[in-house]
Amino acid sequence: MSAPLLQLNDFSVAYREVQALHSVDLEVRDGEIVTVIGPNGAGKTTLLCAAMGLLPSSGKVHLSGEHIVRPSVEAMVARGVGLVPERRELFGEMSVHDNLLLGGFVRWRRGQRDQKARMEEVFDIFPRLRERHAQMASTLSGGERQMLAIGRALMARPRLLMLDEPSLGLAPLIVREVLQVVSSLRRHGVSVLLVEQNARAALQVADRAYVLEMGAVALTGAARELLNDRRIIDTYLGMG
Ligand code: ATP
Repeated sequence: MSAPLLQLNDFSVAYREVQALHSVDLEVRDGEIVTVIGPNGAGKTTLLCAAMGLLPSSGKVHLSGEHIVRPSVEAMVARGVGLVPERRELFGEMSVHDNLLLGGFVRWRRGQRDQKARMEEVFDIFPRLRERHAQMASTLSGGERQMLAIGRALMARPRLLMLDEPSLGLAPLIVREVLQVVSSLRRHGVSVLLVEQNARAALQVADRAYVLEMGAVALTGAARELLNDRRIIDTYLGMG
């Protein structure tokens, strides 16, 4: 079996005296949708930010078997990892088209001039963005903004996309729509590490899941099995 796309071992993060992650072991294989669920403050955002090289960490990070000695955003982006942050970080006063173009900047800087073709592929994944390509990002609906944030990250042609709470602030119907698109990304050669507080919706689209509690992995398994796990139902899926 080939090496996982992303592998974290004994992965720990501290904010001064606050230990936010304790010795996490986690992997994402090619073509997988993996979700990390858990309560507020469990360390989910910290996990993504540190794996992206935005925060210092200890432990081991491997990408497709390559040991990344000092994870940095540059190192991760260069190896095909993308992050869609929780706050989406769009440029509100720029059009959908221009926000997407910015997402392709890393490739453009490397001399790859395929932004037009890539944008068409992103529009095929999110037809709504094609319809609204000239619209200012700040005037999009919540769901459209999330699609734009994901689309912008896809412009860099990542192999692994890490998503921080894409369902945040969205109506249930829109959550389902966004997560359906997320799960379809594997057909486009993109694996996904999805952080969610909406455990039920995340487990419905993921292959495997990790439950993070107080900075440590409390449980891991096939998403379908966790959906039927008494402990998960009682703790995270109680509300219907
Ligand atoms: P939420 O779902 O509420 O976003 P989370 O699971 O993403 O929560 P994190 O935001 O990763 O959790 O926070 C994990 C822990 O680290 C929390 O106890 C939080 O208070 C702490 N923490 C996060 N950022 C900082 C910081 N910049 N300085 C100090 N402590 C922090």
